Amino acid sequence: MILSDCFEVNEAGHLTVGGCDTVELARAYGTPLYVMDENAVRRNCGLYRDALRECTGGRGMALYASKAFCCKEVCRIAAEEGMGLDVVSGGEIATARAAGFPAERVFFHGNNKTRAEIDLALEYGVGRFVADNLEELGRLQRAAQEKGTVARVLLRVKPGVEAHTHAFIKTGQIDSKFGFALSTGEAREAAERALSLPNVELMGLHCHIGSQIFEIAPFLLAAERLLGLRKEIYRETGRSLPEMNLGGGYGIRYVEGDDPIPYGKELHVVAETVARRCAEDGMETPFLYLEPGRSIVGDAGLTLYEVGSVKTIPGVRSYVAVDGGMTDNPRYALYQAAYTAVVANKAAGPADFCATLAGKCCESGDLLQESAWIQKPEEGDLLAVLCTGAYNYSMASNYNRIPRPAVVMVRDGRARVIVRRETYEDLLRCDC
Ligand SMILES: *Cc1c(COP(=O)(O)O)cnc(C)c1O
Repeated sequence: MILSDCFEVNEAGHLTVGGCDTVELARAYGTPLYVMDENAVRRNCGLYRDALRECTGGRGMALYASKAFCCKEVCRIAAEEGMGLDVVSGGEIATARAAGFPAERVFFHGNNKTRAEIDLALEYGVGRFVADNLEELGRLQRAAQEKGTVARVLLRVKPGVEAHTHAFIKTGQIDSKFGFALSTGEAREAAERALSLPNVELMGLHCHIGSQIFEIAPFLLAAERLLGLRKEIYRETGRSLPEMNLGGGYGIRYVEGDDPIPYGKELHVVAETVARRCAEDGMETPFLYLEPGRSIVGDAGLTLYEVGSVKTIPGVRSYVAVDGGMTDNPRYALYQAAYTAVVANKAAGPADFCATLAGKCCESGDLLQESAWIQKPEEGDLLAVLCTGAYNYSMASNYNRIPRPAVVMVRDGRARVIVRRETYEDLLRCDC
């Protein structure tokens, strides 16, 4: 097992995923190739679903944040596993709809929803809008009124907790483009405004404090702050908001040193804290939502590349160039995201070669990883970058007119294409 139990090494010394030999997958489907283990995606959904059901007595639901990887098949799987779905654009709404995702379990996020997107969402019948600003509340009111309907809304609040990986800070944190600030009174005023709108029904408060978080403390602090605001709103308006959404951000293991939260256990702490605090305040415990994205699909996926050249610059470093790069995985170029790489056809060998993994784009910053320890590669070898299930396909581009790779879903040794590889015709489709 490497990093997660999706990835193993077989007797041939080849890396496997979901029981499939990666060398055979590359031969059958070509490279670069995204591969996802369906059992892992379903298991991750189940972890949240079951833990939330248990610790809230059925008054909780996990929503899959589809921006991590949005395609029809993953939406279908999330639906089958009893998840809700977060969407942030008309395109994600169209995908959910095409997948037949139950509209009432869809939550529409985003800091600048256009009127056209709001109309699309109302027509589809999404369950909740997570409203970001006063202008949007106005837009929701007008759109819902014109359609003779009511938009059910959560308010996105900046609770003054910001967390990434091992560090979190408690601040006023009003410098963010997302949501209403709690510390300035803006969030409370927004709640009053929402409560005054006839075609808007205020259901609760929402926050999302960061991503790739390894601690439970910032979630607890954010929950406490939202509950404080909820109580204030109750005191001033007599309305006890029935729902609360604590966002996503649970971290996964990209490299050996990463130590993710055991969600199942820790969610109990969050739910208990919420319930206890509500009891102390004499208020009803709200229905609880969480929105994991990365931790649903991230560790279920890997990307396969063919090695093209190995350039050793004496005393400097060795570049290993592959047939993909920042177009299929921009995360290292964007923020030096850490990944584990393996020469998949030599996975049983020692990882004693230090390499900079480079893509094929016309950018010096087109790197997948620096100082990665891998098996010594040569032309024609297969390089696997692990845990690319989240924020890879969904962030991919056609820079340099490079077609996006296919996505193959594997399960118990069987493989099927869930997103086909782009062709040159696809690239030319919109050119006039
Ligand atoms: C990105 C995002 C998520 C998911 O975050 P992960 O780190 O992938 O779990 C959830 N909710 C909101 C509002 C987001 O923007």
